Amino acid sequence: MPSNDIQTQTRLAPDALGPTITIGEILVEIMANSRGNGFLEPIELMGPYPSGAPAIFIDQCARIGGAAGIIASVGNDDFGRINVGRLRADGADVSAISESEDYPTGSAFVRYREDGSRDFVFNIAKSAAAQVSLTSEAKALIARSGHLHVMGTAFAIPGAWEIIDHAIGVIKERGGSISFDPNLRKELLGQPQTRERFARLVEIADLILPSGEELFVAAGVDGEAAAIQALFARNATEIALKRGERGSSFFAADGSRIDCPAFKVVEVDPTGAGDCFGGAYVACRRLGMPANLALDYGNAAGARNVTVMGPMEGAGSRAQLDTFIATTARAIP
Ligand code: ATP
Ligand code: MG
Repeated sequence: MPSNDIQTQTRLAPDALGPTITIGEILVEIMANSRGNGFLEPIELMGPYPSGAPAIFIDQCARIGGAAGIIASVGNDDFGRINVGRLRADGADVSAISESEDYPTGSAFVRYREDGSRDFVFNIAKSAAAQVSLTSEAKALIARSGHLHVMGTAFAIPGAWEIIDHAIGVIKERGGSISFDPNLRKELLGQPQTRERFARLVEIADLILPSGEELFVAAGVDGEAAAIQALFARNATEIALKRGERGSSFFAADGSRIDCPAFKVVEVDPTGAGDCFGGAYVACRRLGMPANLALDYGNAAGARNVTVMGPMEGAGSRAQLDTFIATTARAIP
């Protein structure tokens, strides 16, 4: 059993130091109502839904009561407005979301295949999402932030690294902390520069939140125990491992571990589970909660989100997640 110290202590900076910030893509998601292969014939679609991994993360972080802000770019269009409106309404700082006059808001069309895998049509690289840059508003948000959460998806956006690099320096200087969700397409690691940046994040993050194979990719070693150990040989003091419908686990550098069983839900739309888990977990830890409680809220946030259509439609407030926890059975570990 972990000691109470480890459960309660965290290297993550307290919420009072300033908001958790993240950097990267804001998108709308438009999804097929039916399962099947791709978009080669007219089908019924639903959307737009606010989306983008960093946006989902920061929305959940704000909803549960953590101070939260995002650096991103949208177009001057309704797809941008639906996103900014949602994030603002849920309590996130949207002052560093810039608006591009030249590019439309990013989008992702998605259709689930019968086997649960997905077909996508993305417009990210040539959209406003790729126009994110280190604006004066972004610098101002970074200057008052207490924690940086880096999403692997940001490595696909050219301008994001300059902002991340700047934020790392400023936040460390302020006594803030850093978390990393290695969530990125594996092919991107074929590029030496991306590999180098990815490795740097693994090197300096205080908290790492991998899921599935990402643990091995981040650690550069196969096998759960070996990979965890390899990550603790770097700067990390805390790992929150996401296990989908098997829940999640907390590992601390002193060897302690907590396994938290998942909630039993009917999965309607798996998109966004990991991002909601992360947003809730980071907020809870920064608000001073022990690791077991943060895992519970993370599991609840992820599970609740998969019961609803839309990438962040199931993100929950603290009260909604308390109700969810009180009324939802747990899967047997
Ligand atoms: P994503 O698919 O968004 O990339 P991820 O792979 O990063 O997600 P997951 O492990 O799939 O992360 O989900 C995060 C958390 O959400 C899990 O640890 C779990 O607690 C919860 N969760 C996800 N899917 C389910 C499910 N089908 N049933 C119950 N809980 C779930
Ligand atoms: Mg993930």
